[in-house]
Amino acid sequence: QAFGAINSVNQALGALGRIQEIVDLPSEGQDDRALAPLVALPAAGASTPGTPAIEFDDVVFAYDERSTRGASDDQDPVEEHIETGVLHGVSFVAERGRRTAIVGPSGAGKSTVLALIERFYDPQGGAVRFAGVDVRSLDRTELRSQIGYVEQDAPVLAGSIRQNLLLGSPTASDDDCVRVLQAVNLGEVLSRSADGLDAPVGEDGVMLSGGERQRLAIARALLAAPPVLLLDESTSSLDGVNEQMMREAIDAVAEDRTLVVIAHRLSTVVDSDRIVVLDHGRVVGIGTHSELVSTVTLYRDLAKHQLLV
Ligand code: ATP
Repeated sequence: QAFGAINSVNQALGALGRIQEIVDLPSEGQDDRALAPLVALPAAGASTPGTPAIEFDDVVFAYDERSTRGASDDQDPVEEHIETGVLHGVSFVAERGRRTAIVGPSGAGKSTVLALIERFYDPQGGAVRFAGVDVRSLDRTELRSQIGYVEQDAPVLAGSIRQNLLLGSPTASDDDCVRVLQAVNLGEVLSRSADGLDAPVGEDGVMLSGGERQRLAIARALLAAPPVLLLDESTSSLDGVNEQMMREAIDAVAEDRTLVVIAHRLSTVVDSDRIVVLDHGRVVGIGTHSELVSTVTLYRDLAKHQLLV
């Protein structure tokens, strides 16, 4: 949930970083400091399905929060340094071209895993690898150009359906727009207004339900065709019909693509190639739905709770 805010903070930080780079550029008469060489990102289609696309190797991570307290007339402020351990040695592999789901109770660390893949933060221990390369040696912008991210309750612009779709891929054709809308089962919204793709999504246009908003965000990500897609499934506004639609949308997305999905409903992930069960920042099980139902108590309880077994 905090990810959206992180996103904009990060954009600001990214801009700062770039300014810093310019400031740091060696000028004449100064020592030439060698800039760390950027590792070229391996081409997305360069290896076969089933090879690791994303690897977590014993990842340890804590949010580092600093706050100042105690500032008063007769007291100097004290800087507090609080570390909130979130991931405690997490290891798993998301294979290329396959669908990996991350499930677990609230606060288990699921969103944090996605944040580390995109390098919003770097781990304090272990490594996150993208196509075999430690993400710390990859340029953030280049890394993110390979990754689509659909956040929970993804934002929808006040503009038209087309404007919403073209955000990440401004040159896409109308045919492409219609194709991705159909892929996520949103073809029908085009018939809600005579304006078609030009219909505004807001108040006077084709009103979208919560489930439809997230599917529009998935369609937007599909249009950009990233080799890796991270999807934080919406917790809200999914009824039975929307859930079925969402499953189909995820199927459309998963085709030929590495998909990592945070699932709040097991029904959307039962047919994932691999399900990683997180609890309090630890992996307590990895397997298919049927393997986990018979071997992992937490998963079995989640499944029972959601009436799947
Ligand atoms: P949910 O299903 O509720 O979204 P989650 O499994 O995705 O939970 P995370 O969002 O990764 O869990 O959070 C894991 C822990 O890290 C929580 O205790 C949370 O309070 C904390 N946390 C998350 N983001 C931050 C942040 N930006 N700064 C500090 N702590 C954070």
